[in-house]
Amino acid sequence: MTENKPYRVLLYYNYVTIENPEEFAAEHLAFCKEIGLKGRILVAAEGINGTVSGTVEQTDLYMKTMNEDPRFTDMVFKIDEVVGHAFKKMHVRPRSELVTLRLEDDINPHELTGKYLSPKEFFEKMQQEDTVVLDARNTYEYDLGHFRGAIRPDVETFRDLPEWVRENKEMLEGKQILTYCTGGIRCEKFSGWLVREGFDNVGQLHGGIATYGKDPEVQGDLWDGQMYVFDERISVPINRKEHVIVGKDYFTGEPCERYVNCANPECNKQIICSEENEHKHLRGCTHECRVHPRNRYIVEHGLTEEEVAVRLRELEAEMVK
Ligand SMILES: [Zn+2]
Repeated sequence: MTENKPYRVLLYYNYVTIENPEEFAAEHLAFCKEIGLKGRILVAAEGINGTVSGTVEQTDLYMKTMNEDPRFTDMVFKIDEVVGHAFKKMHVRPRSELVTLRLEDDINPHELTGKYLSPKEFFEKMQQEDTVVLDARNTYEYDLGHFRGAIRPDVETFRDLPEWVRENKEMLEGKQILTYCTGGIRCEKFSGWLVREGFDNVGQLHGGIATYGKDPEVQGDLWDGQMYVFDERISVPINRKEHVIVGKDYFTGEPCERYVNCANPECNKQIICSEENEHKHLRGCTHECRVHPRNRYIVEHGLTEEEVAVRLRELEAEMVK
């Protein structure tokens, strides 16, 4: 695809020892700001994980500089072409771990991890018998799009996954287990943990969904919906053969792929909903959120108390029907 958009989003990670992550983070932030990047980078003693946006020149300079550092010579950058910055600010934050699993006994993916599968291998294995495809992301990511037939572990966050696996062991025992996530970083640890738990046939989608969607051969086949991303784009297309919508409007259950945050700043829950329903519900996920004194939707649209009351009456009348 040669769309020649002037900006890029880079997605990357590397599990490698970083001495003094705090000092590294401060220096790295200064470097990123100097070249004009925006985005979010996490740094830990176990490595780096980032998403940044910038012009073609800025991102080229960043990748070149990073690859010159012996710690990051083999770091793979997934590149998306975009029309402008996908972030408002530049953050580099030191963390105790790159992905929050909080295992009693941490996994080093260089020592223990599931079998790396290319998009083609993943595509083929997905269709084999006695195979379980496990989504290693959060439920709000799954709900917007996922591999056809993949299991959606009912967990609030990634760190609850191990417990979910232990509770659902029968579903996985004796099966070929395939895991996937956005860019591959979560699966490095999660698949390693599965191997340590005693599952002996565990594969992970190398490079994640982001890489899968760019593979010229599979072209995102068997992916339904959109992929949730952690920048201002919110979602990106993956399947270039067909587009099946799996997202459902929070209020009506109709097919929808539009994420918004609940307008109550104290709730802020992510909900999929159409523009029409956002207006009808004052972008509130519950009645309490709709009438919250600091409802952002009401502020943004400069609605008067009377206008709000009218909207709520209309909504009530409709729900009674
Ligand atoms: Zn809410």
